[in-house]
Amino acid sequence: MDFEPDRGLDAFRQEVRDFLHQHLPPELAGKHRSSIRSALPDLVRWQRILDSRGWGAPYWPEEHGGTGWSVLQRLAFDEECVAAGAPTLDGFAHKLLGPVLNHFASAQQKAEHLPGIFQASRLWCQGFSEPGSGSDLASLRTRAERDGDHYVVNGQKIWTSYAHEADWIFLLVRTDPSARKQAGISFLLVDMKSPGISVRPIHSIDGCHHLNETFFDNVRVPVANRIGEEGAGWSITKFLLNNEHATAADLPVLRRYLMQLQRMARELRVGTQALGQELGFALQVARFEAEVEAIAMLVKRVAAMEQAGDHSPAAHALGSVLKVRGTELQQRISEFMVQALGEYGAIAYATPEALDPAAEPLPEESLAQGIAMEMLFRRASTLYGGTSEVQRGILAKLLFQL
Ligand SMILES: Cc1cc2nc3c(=O)[nH]c(=O)nc-3n(C[C@H](O)[C@H](O)[C@H](O)COP(=O)(O)OP(=O)(O)OC[C@H]3O[C@@H](n4cnc5c(N)ncnc54)[C@H](O)[C@@H]3O)c2cc1C
Repeated sequence: MDFEPDRGLDAFRQEVRDFLHQHLPPELAGKHRSSIRSALPDLVRWQRILDSRGWGAPYWPEEHGGTGWSVLQRLAFDEECVAAGAPTLDGFAHKLLGPVLNHFASAQQKAEHLPGIFQASRLWCQGFSEPGSGSDLASLRTRAERDGDHYVVNGQKIWTSYAHEADWIFLLVRTDPSARKQAGISFLLVDMKSPGISVRPIHSIDGCHHLNETFFDNVRVPVANRIGEEGAGWSITKFLLNNEHATAADLPVLRRYLMQLQRMARELRVGTQALGQELGFALQVARFEAEVEAIAMLVKRVAAMEQAGDHSPAAHALGSVLKVRGTELQQRISEFMVQALGEYGAIAYATPEALDPAAEPLPEESLAQGIAMEMLFRRASTLYGGTSEVQRGILAKLLFQL
C-alpha cells in the first residue's frame, strides 16, 4: 500500500466536485442529507444526469459500458456525491446485480436488462432472505418447479428493501430440493408485475417504509430469465456478495457524520458558548475523527488489494473487519449526534416529510432534521449485508487460513 499523496486521485476528486457543482440541481442537493434512499423521481433524474456525462455506471469496467474507474476513484466519487447531498443511485442494480449480469448473463439478457440500469427505467430489488433463512441463506425454501419453458415459483421473501418501488427482482429459488442445500439453488430475474406476486409493507423503527414481505403464488417465470446454469445460484451469490469489500464500512457516510458534527459544533450553543467549545463534546468528536481516519486507512489498503485482483482470505477478512468496525462506528456516532442535540432532540425525531416545509426553520431545527431517523435507520446496519456476529464468525474461520 502506498501512503504517498495521490495527485491523480486528487485531480479526479476535483473533477467530480466541479461536475457536482455544475450539474447537481440545487433543489436535489438540498433534499438529500440522510442514508435513506432518495425519492424515486430524484433518483431517476440524477441517474440520467450522470448517464449524460458518461458516468451512468460509475462502478463498472469500461468493457461493460462503465467508467473504468479504479476502486479508489469509485470511493472518491461516492464520498463527493454524499458530501454534496446528491440523490442516491439504485445500489441493487449498480453494485449487486450489475456485476452479476456483466459476468454471467447471456448477450440477450444483457441487452434486455443493462440499458434500464443506465437510465434508471428499470429499478431492482433483492429477493434473498426468507423467514428462517437470513444468515443461513442456503437453507432457503422458495421453490421453482419446471413447467415446460417456465418455472412456477412459490414461497415468501422478507426484508425485501424497496420491493414496493421495484420493477424487477433478482431472486434465489430452490430448483432441486433433493440436492445438497447449496447445490439446489438457482438465480432468477422476475418482473414484479408478474401475476401472483404480492408485496406487504414492514414499517421500520425509523418511521419509514423501505422494507417488505414479498409473496410468490404460482408465479410463472420464463426459464430464459435464469442467470447461469440451473443449480449455479449459490456460486453466483458468492460472487455477488464478495464483489466489493472496500465499501463495507460505508466510509462516505462516516465522513458525512463528521461534517454534521462540525456543523453542530459551530451552530449549536450551550448557554452562551458554541457547543464546539464544550470540552466533553470536542474530545468525543476528536476520538471519532481518529477512528474514521483509521477506517479510511484500512479502506485504502483493502482497495489496493481489490485493485490488484487479490481475493485471498486476508482480503476477505479485512472486508469483514471493515463491515464490523464501520457499521458499529456509524451507530455510535449517530447516537452521539442525537444526544448532542440536547433539547432539540425532540425535533430530530420528525422525518423531513413530517415537518412543515413552509415554516422558516431555526438553524438548530434544520440541523436536527433527520438526525434521529438516521440514528434509528443505522440500528439495522449491523444486520444487513451480514450481521456483526456472522462477520466475526467468518473472521475467526479465515484467521486459520492466513
Ligand atoms: C434494513 C434491512 C434491509 C434489508 N434488505 C434486504 C433485501 O433487500 N433483500 C434481502 O434479501 N434481505 C434483506 N435484508 C435481510 C438481511 O440480509 C438479514 O436480516 C440478515 O442476513 C440476517 O438474517 P436474519 O434477519 O434472518 O437474522 P438471523 O440470521 O435469524 O440472525 C438472528 C441473530 O442470530 C445471530 N446469528 C445467526 N447466525 C449466527 C451464527 N452462525 N453465529 C453467530 N450468530 C449468529 C445473528 O447475528 C442475529 O443476531 C435486510 C435487512 C435489514 C435489517
